[in-house]
Amino acid sequence: MATGTSLSHVFPLGSRLNERGRLEVGGCDTIELAREFGTPAYVVAEEDLHARARAFAQAGEQAGHEDFHVVFASKAFPCTAVLEVFAREGLWCDVASGGELHLALQAGYAPERIVMHGNAKSAAELRMALDARVGLIVVDNFDEIDRLERLSEKAQDVLIRVTPDVRGETHEKISTGQADSKFGFSMADAPAAIERIGQIDGLALKGLHAHIGSQLLDLAPFRREVAELAKLGSETHPPGGFSIYDLGGGLGVAYTETQPRPPAIDEYVGTLVRAAQEHGMGLPGRRLLIEPGRALVANAGVTLYTVESVKRNVSTWVGCDGGMSDNLRPMLYGASYEAHVADRFGGATPCVLAGKHCESGDVIVRDALLDDPRPGDVIVTPATGAYGFAMASNYNGVPRPPVVFCRDGEARVVVRRESFEDLTARDVR
Ligand SMILES: *Cc1c(COP(=O)(O)O)cnc(C)c1O
Repeated sequence: MATGTSLSHVFPLGSRLNERGRLEVGGCDTIELAREFGTPAYVVAEEDLHARARAFAQAGEQAGHEDFHVVFASKAFPCTAVLEVFAREGLWCDVASGGELHLALQAGYAPERIVMHGNAKSAAELRMALDARVGLIVVDNFDEIDRLERLSEKAQDVLIRVTPDVRGETHEKISTGQADSKFGFSMADAPAAIERIGQIDGLALKGLHAHIGSQLLDLAPFRREVAELAKLGSETHPPGGFSIYDLGGGLGVAYTETQPRPPAIDEYVGTLVRAAQEHGMGLPGRRLLIEPGRALVANAGVTLYTVESVKRNVSTWVGCDGGMSDNLRPMLYGASYEAHVADRFGGATPCVLAGKHCESGDVIVRDALLDDPRPGDVIVTPATGAYGFAMASNYNGVPRPPVVFCRDGEARVVVRRESFEDLTARDVR
């Protein structure tokens, strides 16, 4: 690990070790952030969010596709301030529930830039999407078509979600493109879904959607996805002839310095656009959408913790003040992260960074190398901007952490820490 002033690519853009050897994010000293805002805390470099949003948009321009739009998969970091950054950058927003639709509308997305997903949308959620006049509803199954037929009065633009039976190399729980999936129509059922929607006055079928999985580090499955989508059509719609293709999200990120590097954003976008053009989906007037979640937010965020205890038995157990309640991914998917003492980078003591919850599996980093950690040390885990906040819980009655935005040396709280009062706020007595 770097001991100079520059840091590896897993940290937010612009991060550095300052003259005192302390990690700085968005120009803010993380030891001071921990003191001022407490720990655990999600710290986000605001500029990093802007930079990645622009990188996606520019990659689309460079690839030469006129009608290309980046749709933020809001589930990755469903925080109003984050949604607002991307709304200001001109991104669209993907939502998968009534709650996410509410967040997107509150954050200022024009309804026509909202894409509604879900494999089990309720009538209430569909009605909410129709009333808000969202740009696209992505239809997942035949029951939903029946439901939309009953609910839709004005012509609502829809896409059909298909599972192109393309398997990305990723964890089974975040692989979505295989034939035996809870998401979307199979390749075999898609033509019937296309015909059926064509018969409904209240629905206007605009195109197809697929999302093959998450944290993909290889681009080949994306090319296969496009090739499969190009085969689909029906008597009413020629294969490859729809006006919108939404290719989903899934670009992987670097969680640790040593893992294989993910493709660059422009390489990923270029590959998708070229594949679409090869299959006739890139003609003038055709719209291409992609839905990155993780790749927009993961590396923009770090989490700060404080060490509460250090125990030496077979391993060295570093117990910190957070854990599975603020980052469920290690437990859920066996996800790997790095950890560092925020003011003593470059440590060599093998440690297990453990959370404070009553589960043996509540381990944040199993193979951390820390500089002789002691109680009171501030620990930083980089690349925690995606799915940590989203999946946070109150397990063990732990209040959820704040979100602190940092930019040019200024820090501001955009979500406050939960209080103990919040834990009882919904009680009805
Ligand atoms: C989760 C999801 C995404 C985003 O996935 P990432 O791996 O975070 O890019 C995009 N589209 C759909 C439909 C999803 O379910």
